[in-house]
Amino acid sequence: MNSRIAEIQSRIIALQTQRAGTTPASATSAQGTFASHLQGAIASTAPTGQTYKLNSKGIPEDLAAYGNGKIPETALARVGNTGHKLWAPAAQSLNGMIEDARRDGVEIGITDSYRPYAEQVDLARRKGLYSQGGLAAKPGTSEHGWGMATDLDLNAKALSWMRKNAGNYGFVENVARESWHWAYRPPT
Ligand SMILES: [Zn+2]
Repeated sequence: MNSRIAEIQSRIIALQTQRAGTTPASATSAQGTFASHLQGAIASTAPTGQTYKLNSKGIPEDLAAYGNGKIPETALARVGNTGHKLWAPAAQSLNGMIEDARRDGVEIGITDSYRPYAEQVDLARRKGLYSQGGLAAKPGTSEHGWGMATDLDLNAKALSWMRKNAGNYGFVENVARESWHWAYRPPT
């Protein structure tokens, strides 16, 4: 997978160089579109069979090393063509799940995803902490801060589809009274 990404990246650079030489005026937007389509394509490829070593809190060790809410862009990937991002393996699995659901006539929307630390602080201020009856995790502890949880827009049909199938993609409903919140459990 890594070598494939490296190969694709080198092709992008080659293409960008070509475009920069021929059509400087429109090159930037064309590159952006191409790169974002490509990222979507990579993110929706089938799982690779890779497994992850988890720390005592269930967070992959490589991810934990970055710190909650401090995940670099390079470790994140986009969900479909939305502005939402998750830890790349979670995004990849979610993209596959959304496609398969669509094939079953089920629409899965996304309302929230990776949440950088500053956004966790802001959310806690606006919605209150769980420990005080609110709707936000203590900043620095949110699953969203690991890019390992997503909030989904699910109608009744989609929710029942999720409850039946999401486990196959590593997603679990793990917060009581938050049927929109789904956490990713990476293969170990
Ligand atoms: Zn959530």
